[in-house]
Amino acid sequence: MRALVVTGVGAEPTVTDIELPAPGPGEIRVRIRAAGVCHSDLSMMNGTISPAYPLVLGHEAAGVVAEVGDDVRRVGVGDHVVLNWAPPCRQCWSCQHGEPWLCAQAGVPAVARGRTAEGVPVHVTLGLGALAEEVVVSERAVIGVPAGLPFESAALLGCAALTGVGAVTRTAAVAPGESVLVLGLGGVGLATVLAARTAGAGRIIAADLAEAKSGLALAAGATDFLVSDDMLGRQIRALTDGRGVDHAFECVGRAATIRTAWRATRRGGQVIVVGMGAKEDLVELSALEIFHSARTLRSSVYGSSDPDRDVPELAAAVLDGSLDLGPLITDRCGLAEASAAFARMARGEGARTVVLFD
Ligand SMILES: [Zn+2]
Ligand SMILES: [Zn+2]
Repeated sequence: MRALVVTGVGAEPTVTDIELPAPGPGEIRVRIRAAGVCHSDLSMMNGTISPAYPLVLGHEAAGVVAEVGDDVRRVGVGDHVVLNWAPPCRQCWSCQHGEPWLCAQAGVPAVARGRTAEGVPVHVTLGLGALAEEVVVSERAVIGVPAGLPFESAALLGCAALTGVGAVTRTAAVAPGESVLVLGLGGVGLATVLAARTAGAGRIIAADLAEAKSGLALAAGATDFLVSDDMLGRQIRALTDGRGVDHAFECVGRAATIRTAWRATRRGGQVIVVGMGAKEDLVELSALEIFHSARTLRSSVYGSSDPDRDVPELAAAVLDGSLDLGPLITDRCGLAEASAAFARMARGEGARTVVLFD
């Protein structure tokens, strides 16, 4: 089967023939139908994260179960499934204390699985490697969804939508009428805007370095779009009676934007870091401002979600029309064009590209 493989930091991803093992006990083979190009894959390529290479990219996808190993109970051949890049073990301390998104076993950047046609062992991103025609995964790493759910929407439920919706509804618990700032309008940022709109937020200010994101932001439900420059803080205060927003969502993963989000938040408000940044990128906060601002700084890992519970809920919302993921998808392509989608993302263009398979 063909997969998008990157061989090292800074290398161009290429479509490569890969052999996967047959599904073992508790494992399944999924034929991928749609896979999103997510910023975390870019982080695997550009050195923000240092996984093992060669690496099959991709972790946001949906498809159809093609084969099941022994003792598989959750799904059967022909079922439509969403992939889950952080399947909780249900055994560790976090899993047993209601925080399965912090599972000690989940979220390993690269897992050894399969080999190239020349016999070189390869790794798969987050245990999935979903920018590929097929994956072989544990049955715990998929969630069944109704067959009527379009594959491209289903794919987004596995990362961008779950992360953005969860950040708003579960991590921050945005209440109707509250004000929200979303910094960084990639797939997750736009999903956060959509979710804030659905949650009944009052003012929803979306900001990005690229003016071209304005149309996408307003289509996703933002009430205001601002270009992220030196004037941003002043403009946000002007839109919030001088106070700052109740909730600021940082969807970039950089110290500088975390600072911007912090300053744009009202006293007593909260800053939610949704973007995943680098280890050496330090955020500076003074002891006095931490005390005086009375702000809460927290992160949202996988939307503080339990995918087994929340993906079916989101799937139902897509099907009944209350969650329209359409505004998130700006490009569709085949696997051979996925490398160009990463280049667009690195330039800050568009929102989600979805790779479609036959
Ligand atoms: Zn992702
Ligand atoms: Zn666990």
